[in-house]
Amino acid sequence: MATIGFIGLGNMGGPMAANLAKAGHAVKAFDLSDAARASAVEAGCTAAASVAEAASGVEVVVTMLPAGPHVRSVYTGPDGVLGAAVKGTLMIDCSTIDVDSARAVSKSCDEAGMMMVDAPVSGGVAGAAGGTLTFMVGGSEAAFEKAKPILEAMGKTIVHAGGPGNGQAAKICNNMLLGITMIGTCEAFMLANKLGLDAQKLFDISSKASGQNWSMTSYCPVPGPVPTSPANRDYQPGFAADMMLKDLKLAQEAAARAGASTPLGANAEALYQLFSNNGHGGLDFSGIIKMIGGLDT
Ligand code: NAD
Repeated sequence: MATIGFIGLGNMGGPMAANLAKAGHAVKAFDLSDAARASAVEAGCTAAASVAEAASGVEVVVTMLPAGPHVRSVYTGPDGVLGAAVKGTLMIDCSTIDVDSARAVSKSCDEAGMMMVDAPVSGGVAGAAGGTLTFMVGGSEAAFEKAKPILEAMGKTIVHAGGPGNGQAAKICNNMLLGITMIGTCEAFMLANKLGLDAQKLFDISSKASGQNWSMTSYCPVPGPVPTSPANRDYQPGFAADMMLKDLKLAQEAAARAGASTPLGANAEALYQLFSNNGHGGLDFSGIIKMIGGLDT
């Protein structure tokens, strides 16, 4: 069992830290929020008073923070992780952030004599609570092998995606594709409706034909065909549209810097931005069908 400093105890980090404690690890937990720290203590962690305290004298540091600037400052800022941790500490950043920040922080860790992996997740809050997350991991083979047993206490599927930043690259490529297929699926169901084709009939046919995709068969955006999909509970998330928008923006920024042509990704970003601007960013991302169908005002 390892000694772990856990920084960022929000919707995802809170239950992830709890699962590490449940697995028998000694977890020192820090968040800017007193309430989040108190919940972590109730879940079996001990509270740290600062980032530096969480990172000092531990074998592993895990971070679960909102975005790239938070990760850069928590690791490399004054009183940050790198100034406090002992050489050889393994760093695991599970936040979803831009590829450049992930690679820059990994390089700083390397220079400070620490190992680092970027390990963004899919599976959402339910996956974090149930310990069933999927981790997409970027970093050296040695860092991946060291991180794996720690990640296994929080997730079910752990995939090594390549060198530093490749976990983030995998995450944004996957979620760009998800955003695009969701919008395409919404368009198909709305067209079917206008043509007098029953939604269940389209589902029965398309889920066995070449239009088959996850957004349809596991997360259908119309009520009925997939009973567990958010469409059956008035589009309560699930995976909020604003979270999808964040990932689509990361994908577009990465595409612009890499010179990749992603016109459908750009359109998906514009449509989710419009949906969010209309006040629906808190709805599940499949709720965009309301806007596609002209039902959103
Ligand atoms: P959240 O906003 O609930 O939690 C972030 C936490 O970080 C907050 O509690 C905040 O107080 C804390 N924090 C911010 N700056 C800090 C600092 N300097 N020191 C210590 N704590 C600090 O967000 P979340 O939903 O837990 O998401 C975390 C990350 O996981 C994000 O990058 C998000 O994109 C990603 N993610 C979220 C989901 C989801 O369904 N919520 C799914 C997959 C990935």
